[in-house]
Amino acid sequence: MNPQPNLASSQNDISFPEHEEAFRIAVREWLTAHYATFKAQWHDLPDPRSMAFRRGWEDHLCSHGMAGLGWPEQYGGHALDLRRQAVFHEEHALCGAPLGINLIGHGILAPTLLHFGTQAQKRAYLPGILSNQTIWCQGYSEPGAGSDLASLRTRAEATATGYRLNGHKIWTSFADQADWCFVLARTDPDAPRHRGLSFLLVNMRQPGVRVSPIRQLTGEAEFCEVFFENAEVRREDLVGEENQGWKIAMAAASYERGTYFIPRLVRFHQELMQIRQWISDRQQLGQQASSLVRRWSRLAIDSHVLALKSRRALASAVSGEPPGPLGSSTKVHWSEAHQIMLTLALELLGPRACLSASFSDDEEAALFIHAFLWSKAETILAGTSEIQRNIIAEKVLGLPKGA
Ligand SMILES: Cc1cc2nc3c(=O)[nH]c(=O)nc-3n(C[C@H](O)[C@H](O)[C@H](O)COP(=O)(O)OP(=O)(O)OC[C@H]3O[C@@H](n4cnc5c(N)ncnc54)[C@H](O)[C@@H]3O)c2cc1C
Repeated sequence: MNPQPNLASSQNDISFPEHEEAFRIAVREWLTAHYATFKAQWHDLPDPRSMAFRRGWEDHLCSHGMAGLGWPEQYGGHALDLRRQAVFHEEHALCGAPLGINLIGHGILAPTLLHFGTQAQKRAYLPGILSNQTIWCQGYSEPGAGSDLASLRTRAEATATGYRLNGHKIWTSFADQADWCFVLARTDPDAPRHRGLSFLLVNMRQPGVRVSPIRQLTGEAEFCEVFFENAEVRREDLVGEENQGWKIAMAAASYERGTYFIPRLVRFHQELMQIRQWISDRQQLGQQASSLVRRWSRLAIDSHVLALKSRRALASAVSGEPPGPLGSSTKVHWSEAHQIMLTLALELLGPRACLSASFSDDEEAALFIHAFLWSKAETILAGTSEIQRNIIAEKVLGLPKGA
């Protein structure tokens, strides 16, 4: 069965030069040592799914200078190139540490401000992200505007000092934890749909903002509804030009290209290896497992192909190519294969999947059940499978646009 795929180092054009292998080793040693100490000192059962634990670990990384990896040094960053950033993300996932809760701040807003923000905006907002003291959320989707985002109706009306914001956002991840939100809102209702939108930075800690958490299948409430009722936005918190928000939102979506899938594919492979162990255990007990092996092998091929796709995306980002439809192919492939794998995992867990009600009962089963339930969202978030297939159909296969 295939060995651990190394997503950021290979023999091709994105290979991590051997003389820099010391960087990977140093990162691995740092992360392994710090994560072990962090878990040992955690005041509670170290549950990598819990918001508190994820925030705690992210705070730890930031307070030890492990943030702003790709930012210019003048803003407190490390100015690492994309390959080194990829190595960090890969080693971070390999050591078993969870993703943080300020991913949107670190991964989307910070690069957006670095590219489109004014000096004053960079000075005002980058330090809070670097220290993790300011948590950000992304306010795009609305009850009537998800896949068709440009039909959004949240309205930002000009006032003497900025804008007055009214509208209803939904599925806003981490909104109940967030201090600030970047919002796409309509500033010109008469302009064509994409042209009348602006990208605004909105303080969540003000009277005109109401947040209502939505309970998910997992039992957690990681995303929320957000109601803006005459919320105030200062003029200096408009990013870019008024009515040019669509362009900024589209650019913002491309910043994680090259690294977004790395932790997800490492996790995919780790889960796959655990499932392999369960199948081997059954074989050793003399049980028939040929159909399980066949299903597992198919997933192992998926894992390998996904690693290659991830590598190719990184190579194209490194060479400065504009984002293409490859991301859609990886998104559909990963999210759908992950659901298939976790269905197999639950079958193998059998009664353990039903009996382990909490993390403390059966850590391994709890993690798989959580992943299974969460994976239902993976074919929806960041563009549904249908929308990704439309992109592949139109942009790769050249099929005519649907009605
Ligand atoms: C876990 C999670 C976290 C999220 N976090 C955020 C966040 O932080 N901020 C944020 O703004 N949003 C967030 N979202 C929202 C996400 O971006 C939307 O759910 C997604 O874009 C789909 O929009 P929708 O839910 O309105 O579904 P709709 O667009 O209403 O789609 C409903 C169904 O119709 C299908 N469909 C729609 N249009 C077409 C078409 N043209 N062709 C074929 N089929 C179509 C869809 O595929 C889907 O099956 C999150 C979603 C999830 C699940």
